[in-house]
Amino acid sequence: MKSSYKFEKEVLKLIFIPNKTEGVDCSGKVKMGRYECNIHTPKDWDIEKIHPDVLALIIILIAYPFIDKEIEVPIGVSQDFHDSFKKETKKSIYPVDKNLKPRIAPKNAVPGLAYSGGVDSTAALALLPSNTVCFFLDRILPKELEKSLKLYDKQSVYDVYSQLEKQGRQGYKIKTDLEYVRVPRGFPVETSTTIPALLLSDYIGIDSVATGTIMEHQYIPYHKISLDRDYFVKWNNIFKSIDIPLNQVTAGISEVGTMKILLNSPYSSFNHWCMRGDNSRPCMKCDKCFRKKILEMILLKQQVPNSMLDNLFLSNEVRTMLKQLPIPCENVIAYITSHYNGNHTLMKSLKKRTRANILDTSWMEKWYSPAKDLIAEKYYNSVEKEIIKHLEVMSSEDEANMNSWDITSINNSLIYQKYQQDFISDLTKFKQDTIRNR
Ligand SMILES: [Zn+2]
Repeated sequence: MKSSYKFEKEVLKLIFIPNKTEGVDCSGKVKMGRYECNIHTPKDWDIEKIHPDVLALIIILIAYPFIDKEIEVPIGVSQDFHDSFKKETKKSIYPVDKNLKPRIAPKNAVPGLAYSGGVDSTAALALLPSNTVCFFLDRILPKELEKSLKLYDKQSVYDVYSQLEKQGRQGYKIKTDLEYVRVPRGFPVETSTTIPALLLSDYIGIDSVATGTIMEHQYIPYHKISLDRDYFVKWNNIFKSIDIPLNQVTAGISEVGTMKILLNSPYSSFNHWCMRGDNSRPCMKCDKCFRKKILEMILLKQQVPNSMLDNLFLSNEVRTMLKQLPIPCENVIAYITSHYNGNHTLMKSLKKRTRANILDTSWMEKWYSPAKDLIAEKYYNSVEKEIIKHLEVMSSEDEANMNSWDITSINNSLIYQKYQQDFISDLTKFKQDTIRNR
């Protein structure tokens, strides 16, 4: 694969030229859709303001799934970067500039956060020091698709960034269409979300980059797509070679724990999860609204109104999600139903379906401390102090409960299959009864 760049009018265009055997990833399911992408930069940024190794990593984070044996980059990389990339991926990068020293973060460097405004990365924001700089990967459409596709509503994220700025914090929104290099559209690798932080790493001076990766992604393999998107590369070792280690401050915290931290933090008003709603209000029809809204109410010890549950259980999207075995994010659904004390028949049926009446779900609100290894060394002590202000540390019993949370066994279990059928018939009956009574 060859790559090149053009930089004009505050847009960095990256161009990829695969050879004949390239263009499809190792699974055969992901292909290259476009051979270039645009990244919009701040006004006073220029190519001199990025270390060549960092530029190379940005190119890799977009093209990696499609690189066969080697990648040629437009500006030579250091020998250290070459060696580290080779060691972790068995692929080569060239040319090597023998005179180029590896990037070292400046002395007064600050931590960076790939901040999407979602619950998990807001929890990360609450755990990180107050000088953390936030970077938003602001997805835009490639020019030729502007008329045919519609983007999700980003207003709530923009509002969050302007509130952060009012509090005197630094935030950067970097527009890019890099998701369209990949078909189906999406981030080529899991850590592609760090690209805005990498782009500005020397412009600002950062020494690490955090993301909102949570326990479910890191330790519980049901987000199979994201696991596949690592392509079995120890990415952190490559990030370390440019002195921007990954800082996975929420990796030992579940979706229940991140919501708990957010609600308990100065950022509780940033509680946005829905990409569908208008004017920053959740749509209350999607599966995220089902999970996050009920979780929020359970953690705030609020009554969950039956009328709200009725509407959610009538939504086609929610019904499709709940019929699955396992349900996506099943652990969170189990946590919700295990703490639900109301009288809605479908919530009771869902409690039985997720076995929340039998299972101990309390591990989800605690910190899995072995995940400290994924926090950047420089920030470990301060982040640990913050985490234990919000969450208890898991006991060995909690850790055993977490480790025994096995999605494959749920999928194959005859008991779960029976409960699934029971729940589906309750769901069907509920819809019929509702239509009859209207
Ligand atoms: Zn929604």
